[in-house]
Amino acid sequence: MDVRTFDLIIIGGGPAGLSAGIYGGRSLLKTAIIEKIGTGGQLNITDNIANYPGFPDEISGYELGAKMLKQTQNFGTEIIYDEVRGLENDGIWRIVKGAGVTYRAKAVILATGVSSRKLDVPSEGRLRGKGVSYCGTCDGAFFKDKIISVAGGGDTAIEEAVYLTQFGSQVHIIHRRQGFRAAPKNIERAKQNPKINFILDTVIESIRGKEKVERLILKNKITGEVTEHLTDAIFVFIGFIPNTDFLAGYIELNKDNYIIANRDMSTSIPGVFVAGDVSLKDHKQIVTAVSDGAIASMNAWKYISELKGE
Ligand code: NAP
Repeated sequence: MDVRTFDLIIIGGGPAGLSAGIYGGRSLLKTAIIEKIGTGGQLNITDNIANYPGFPDEISGYELGAKMLKQTQNFGTEIIYDEVRGLENDGIWRIVKGAGVTYRAKAVILATGVSSRKLDVPSEGRLRGKGVSYCGTCDGAFFKDKIISVAGGGDTAIEEAVYLTQFGSQVHIIHRRQGFRAAPKNIERAKQNPKINFILDTVIESIRGKEKVERLILKNKITGEVTEHLTDAIFVFIGFIPNTDFLAGYIELNKDNYIIANRDMSTSIPGVFVAGDVSLKDHKQIVTAVSDGAIASMNAWKYISELKGE
């Protein structure tokens, strides 16, 4: 099997990984980012970004991701498309096992991000792509003048619901309690939108429809009442789960499988650092992801420069 050697390998090409790539390349480390599908991560499914410094007039997630990629490549960081299956230690080397290629590096940064949490109700999988969606930017336009429903009460659900009002005739936000995790400013914006209707204290019990989504079965948690809710789409934004399956047994994870990080973004394995949403932390923002990437990369450089012998 081929073995490719680098100073620094970054796994994941979202904002955290791309930022780490900028700092790795700029530190003159032989650096590669290994990405499974396409760089940009969650930026690719984010419409307009209003809170990333330097872009006072907003920027689309896709455009910001493309700029980050260009900047990373300007510093000589290589982008490799492969799926990482596992990690091992071999002396000073961290061995990264890809689908057909093995890589080794003196330091690794894990920036694999998170995936959308599923509702885990009947027909969610069967009707995925037929009215069940996890991405407003990708699928919203399919539901022009249709009834759209959104599950969740965090910032993602509320922002996406507002975004989806440009397509749908009506957007119902279905949330399991009265309080919201979303920022009050986001809630206020949604409340002022005449197309948005809140259905609170309510859980989705199942999704119904033959060829496509036709209705939801809802249950009010306070009264116990079960109702049918007609809708053409259900967009699910109920949080995320970390992409750490391939790390089980290798590195210290918390009970929810997030990677436990120290302040310098180091982990339980020397030479392995973490950055972005896959790390256990409170505030998950693009700006905090790129900050993590920079810190992880600078500390990876320090770690490599202090290694003795090969
Ligand atoms: P989140 O804040 O974790 O919210 C998840 C929402 O889904 C909560 O309302 C939660 O309800 C609900 N939920 C979880 N599991 C559920 C289930 N099984 N069934 C029904 N509902 C369920 O996730 P997020 O909104 O994706 O945000 C993630 C992070 O990104 C947050 O830190 C957020 O602030 C940040 N973010 C920031 C911005 C911004 O600053 N512009 C935009 C998007 C995201 P409960 O509240 O009852 O648990």
